[in-house]
Amino acid sequence: MSKKVCIFCGARTGNSPEIIERTKELVALLASQDYDLVYGGGNGGLMGLIADNFLDHGRKVIGIRPDILLSEENSHDGLTEMISTVDMFERKKLMVEISDSFIALPGGVGTLDEILDVFTLNKINAIHKPMALYDIDGFYKKFEELLGTFIKYEYLDESAMDMLIIDNDVNELVNRINEFK
Ligand code: AMP
Repeated sequence: MSKKVCIFCGARTGNSPEIIERTKELVALLASQDYDLVYGGGNGGLMGLIADNFLDHGRKVIGIRPDILLSEENSHDGLTEMISTVDMFERKKLMVEISDSFIALPGGVGTLDEILDVFTLNKINAIHKPMALYDIDGFYKKFEELLGTFIKYEYLDESAMDMLIIDNDVNELVNRINEFK
């Protein structure tokens, strides 16, 4: 049975060939395991790359885009489905509702905002869905350290880290998502 993975990632491509290659590897693995994609609906950067790659592997791709961005020329026009939402808040809500799991690839503040939202919802038990950071080239190392600071000052329970998968190995990352309890 197909599952929906929501991927958060840069609206830009960035400057690392390794990130691009490892992103393609991840998509190929997810597609081989019958995952369909939910994402922000853009056609550029890593966002466009993952959408094109899922489609090339014959998988479904659902874009979720607030009206304000829909008219922009960077909307992907070849998706299985494009859902428009009133605003960014409704968009995130819908992404969370319809997806079975979440992965953050390298990206910027938008990516961080989205995965933190999912982390917070898991932490307060509003949802119970696997979420992962694909830590290509140590991209999320400093963020992991920051979470350690939150724990040190007792603003975050150490047990919260059990909910967040952080892995640099693509097979381990996907296995851990599949086995999440
Ligand atoms: P960033 O990491 O700042 O590049 O933002 C990328 C993330 O925020 C994606 O996962 C999208 O869901 C959302 N986002 C930011 N900019 C756009 C855009 N121009 N089109 C669609 N989604 C965007």
